[in-house]
Amino acid sequence: MNQLSHLLSATLAVGNLDTKVTGVATDNRQVRPGDAFVAFEGQRVDGHDFINDAFDRGASVAIVSKPVKTDRGAILHVHDPLTAVQQMAMHERTAFEGPIVGITGSNGKTTTKQMVAAVLGSLGDCLYTEANRNNELGLPLTILQRTPAHRSIVLEMGMRGFGQISDLCRIARPNIGIITNIGQSHIELLGSQEGIARAKGELVQALPEDGHAILNADDVWLRSLGSKSRAEVIGYGFSADSDVRARDVRWTADGMEFTVDAMGESSRMSLPTFGLHNISNALAAVAAGRLLGVSMNDITIGLAGLEELSGRLRIVPGHRGMKIIDDCYNASPLSMNASLDVLSHIAEAGKRVAVLGDMYELGDYSQEGHEQVGRYAGRVGIDTLVAIGPQARWIASEAKKSGVRTVYHSETVKEALAHLDRWVNSNSTVLVKASRGMQLEQVVESLV
Ligand code: ATP
Ligand code: MG
Repeated sequence: MNQLSHLLSATLAVGNLDTKVTGVATDNRQVRPGDAFVAFEGQRVDGHDFINDAFDRGASVAIVSKPVKTDRGAILHVHDPLTAVQQMAMHERTAFEGPIVGITGSNGKTTTKQMVAAVLGSLGDCLYTEANRNNELGLPLTILQRTPAHRSIVLEMGMRGFGQISDLCRIARPNIGIITNIGQSHIELLGSQEGIARAKGELVQALPEDGHAILNADDVWLRSLGSKSRAEVIGYGFSADSDVRARDVRWTADGMEFTVDAMGESSRMSLPTFGLHNISNALAAVAAGRLLGVSMNDITIGLAGLEELSGRLRIVPGHRGMKIIDDCYNASPLSMNASLDVLSHIAEAGKRVAVLGDMYELGDYSQEGHEQVGRYAGRVGIDTLVAIGPQARWIASEAKKSGVRTVYHSETVKEALAHLDRWVNSNSTVLVKASRGMQLEQVVESLV
């Protein structure tokens, strides 16, 4: 505890410093005995009001940034609770000797993280980002969950602007960095796709000389990033010159089958999910596994046993013989295309219905991004398009020009729900996808 107050340059306000700190919690309801409870002032709730509850649950110390009324436990006073959490995480990081994999990219971070964790699981316990906790608070909190049993750590790294990936890397100091792709999300803050590439490239810049950058070689932006890396670059993708390559792809009833050539060895692998983009994500996991000594056989087993991720390409039976592809977790032009591709592969012509909503955070690129998705819908043979939202109008107009036979548009989800029964035929396969804020899960609920 003395060490803790020293680490945080904190002053001890109340209590004694003899207690042992075994973990960290920021939600009083999740405090386990021995944890340090860090009080955050949120918009609706203030952690400082729950200090006594945290002590009831066995907190060893409360870390606060303003005066609190309690005569229990030990209270450490810090200037900023977020900095305190980050400093504790950096300390924890330094104590960890195993490999740390950092993952960023416009699409597929969470999916790839799950795949890497599944592959590294064969080396022993793997600590990985829960859900989507990929920011300046979630990442350090993940590191702080480390126990002596953990053999590897896999961290998702999100970003909305320059310097954010650098900041996360300063805390995590990854040995391996994965970048899945460079899309157009957050373009309004980063100016251009080149800006997005530069911001994500901060991960490559942060890697040590003996580290490895695992980059999607099918992404033109990432090809040029690799040449600027001090760390060794491993390229993955579908082209023959990739270091880790997928070929002979087959769409099966339950997912994908493909052969992987990786560093001199080949293996037939399968994934319990659909799409070429998911094979791409899996190749990143194969590369990480190979670098860290996992056999092709164990990699194959790990990937085949992947668990479903909620809201991402989940296939559920709907009413009237429909099949619903619930992918309403999020959307960007890149991921819309990936999912339209899945729809056209798993459904026969005549049965392909896409319910697509607005994609946010595209800034000046918004019209072009939506129109491009409309054209893609035509190219892959979608039969019926239901576009929802003011921006999705652009999807609808281009889809119509590109050969989609039946196109509907509604301004709101509510309006679309009122017509959906007439618009979507029985026995169709229906893809549902939009940005999170569109809440298209309402559409999924009404169809199942
Ligand atoms: P977020 O920015 O919300 O954290 P993420 O990068 O973690 O997203 P995932 O949650 O893994 O991404 O996937 C989100 C959606 O992106 C999926 O529903 C899928 O449609 C799509 N997606 C996943 N991987 C790729 C990929 N490699 N290329 C294009 N689209 C992808
Ligand atoms: Mg994510």
